[in-house]
Amino acid sequence: MVNTAKPCYTIPKGGGSMSHNAELISVGTELLLGNILNTDARFLSRELSKLGMNVYYQTVVGDNPERLRRAVDIAKGRADIIITTGGLGPTCDDLTKQTLAAAFGKKLVFHEESAERIRDYFEQNLHGAPMPENNLQQAMFPDGCVILPNDWGTAPGCIFEADGCHVVMLPGPPRECEPMFCAHVVPYLQKLSGETIRSRTLKLFGMGESAVEARLRDRMNALTNPTLAPYAKTGEVELRITAKAESDAEADALIAPVEEEVRAIFGDLIYGADVDSLEEVVLAALKEKGLTLSCAESCTGGLIAKRLTDLPGASAAFEGGAVTYWSEVKRGLLGVPQTLLDEKGAVSEEVARAMAEGARTVFGSDLAVSATGVAGPDSDERGNPVGLVYVALATPEGTFCRELHLGQSRDRVRTTAAHHAFDMTRRYLAGLPSELKV
Ligand code: ATP
Repeated sequence: MVNTAKPCYTIPKGGGSMSHNAELISVGTELLLGNILNTDARFLSRELSKLGMNVYYQTVVGDNPERLRRAVDIAKGRADIIITTGGLGPTCDDLTKQTLAAAFGKKLVFHEESAERIRDYFEQNLHGAPMPENNLQQAMFPDGCVILPNDWGTAPGCIFEADGCHVVMLPGPPRECEPMFCAHVVPYLQKLSGETIRSRTLKLFGMGESAVEARLRDRMNALTNPTLAPYAKTGEVELRITAKAESDAEADALIAPVEEEVRAIFGDLIYGADVDSLEEVVLAALKEKGLTLSCAESCTGGLIAKRLTDLPGASAAFEGGAVTYWSEVKRGLLGVPQTLLDEKGAVSEEVARAMAEGARTVFGSDLAVSATGVAGPDSDERGNPVGLVYVALATPEGTFCRELHLGQSRDRVRTTAAHHAFDMTRRYLAGLPSELKV
């Protein structure tokens, strides 16, 4: 019998203090061949760490039942939570449930309610296309498991407990795996640990990870609950404060003074808490103030516009952008004076300023940002080094510019230049100086 209503796990005695070791097993030959990136494992590891669970091992195994069985047998010996992704589909190489059921001595049984959901999914999303019979394989589950309904696709997941292990099976496609983990697995794991784990992530721009860590090292070492940990991303640092407590309110109360302390140290370098990106903060501030933005890009090649338009609702504040790679286009489209281009060169503070001012005029926006620089791999014809970038912001109060030296990697130069364009805008909108020395 399978069970969708009541979970069949038990909460460990004295739950709160028990630490759990989770192991991820990603199933899929495509992963082994390098055809796709294992983004499920990245997502799950990050989320498990937020829940205070250890992840000591991740395994990738092809669609092969013997090798999957060996991976499961090894995982059983060293983890009390096993999470698999992939191999839940209807095809003959989708063998995760059979293999896991066998590894834990369970039979597969048919679950009519899941079969109905799969039939409904076909009717609603696939325009009534007849459902191939082998899709019903997705309605077979290990006896006694809790079924995790899949509202984002056809393959339901499941959880069961056996041999001292909690076994979670999730579908492979990230658009299914991620929401299912958040909707069904997080509450299960939280109950398992018998306590609430809350975290707050402060985002910081304008200081490198090692400098951030150096300032916080003593404090981080002294803290046990909550913990404080930095994570570096291209050009940015995340500081995650994680607290365990009996209730959300208690956890939040533990987090609050540490957040205050961290904010006192880094001040306005912190651009947000529990936000995804600088551009998200910029867009929200523009909307709040009823202002519009445009951009003129050279070395960033449209990245600033792309990142803004990735955000739903960007049209409320973002008017448009121009990718002006050639000097002739900078002159013709943005009105950058030829004399400036001749005398100072396209990679110069003067041209960055003129590009931003040109965009502001052409688009008629309240604010405009620009970026011009040498993304590499070679220096430009004037001998400007790779990584030299000028980012400017034109505003009704005048134009501001940053000269940046962003290293050798083309990707990093472009990403970080776009970060600076957003950071200048964010600081201007917050009434802070934009030409910050970084
Ligand atoms: P379905 O049959 O519904 O597609 P499934 O659980 O059988 O789900 P797989 O067949 O293993 O999943 O994988 C389907 C697709 O999901 C893969 O082609 C790949 O694009 C994506 N995918 C699978 N595993 C991962 C992973 N670990 N990380 C990122 N993407 C993945």
